[in-house]
Amino acid sequence: MARTFFVGGNFKLNGTKQSIKEIVDRINEASLANDVEVVLCPPAPYLDYAAGLVAKSQVTVGAQNAYVKGAGAYTGENSVEQIKDVGAKWVILGHSERRTLFGEDDKLVAEKTKFALDQGLGVILCIGETLEEKKAGTTLKVVETQLTAVIDQVKDWSNVVVAYEPVWAIGTGLAATPEDAQDIHAHIREFLSAKLGADVAEKTRILYGGSANGKNAVTFKDKKDVDGFLVGGASLKPEFVDIVNSRN
Ligand code: PGA
Repeated sequence: MARTFFVGGNFKLNGTKQSIKEIVDRINEASLANDVEVVLCPPAPYLDYAAGLVAKSQVTVGAQNAYVKGAGAYTGENSVEQIKDVGAKWVILGHSERRTLFGEDDKLVAEKTKFALDQGLGVILCIGETLEEKKAGTTLKVVETQLTAVIDQVKDWSNVVVAYEPVWAIGTGLAATPEDAQDIHAHIREFLSAKLGADVAEKTRILYGGSANGKNAVTFKDKKDVDGFLVGGASLKPEFVDIVNSRN
């Protein structure tokens, strides 16, 4: 079964109305391979605006985070319902910046994932090891632990996309090699197969994230378990289109 190639753009805390319009216009005008799903994730204040600018059915918008509960006295948070209400279809959860800078642990990420899925939002679930964990040789154990927390709570994975993002590769210009990414993605897929069944594992898209750019994306082209990218810095630049088209 062919998995639809998936490229997410994580703008992080960057952008203005003007720059977001430029980015979306560029994508609207580009010739994109039509068998690629593209999700643009601007900061929450611009979700509504970006959703209104998108002009291609293969391009949707997503949030970078969502609260673990619905409406209520939770000052400063954004609810899944509101994210959906402004036209977003996805949410990134468990990004390493949320885990390290904002103290989100595996349990909270799993609860958020379950809540978002139950409300009908697709989830881009980020996992990945730190440099220390890589050096200690515990990469596979780390991603298994991160996945297990979610597997314990979520049985239907049809709206989950996994993003393997080694923390040491994020924003550093030092991407994982395609071979290393492939090995870890294959392991993630085997792990999903063992825990959730071969069918779920076969259908779940596993993205690579961490310094993906317009040049290196094509080097992942023949890696059968790399089903796309979650792109940070390069998603703000014209080269994002090259990443989207890197399979073709
Ligand atoms: P980067 O970020 O592409 O800038 O390394 C990726 C991410 O954080 O999702």
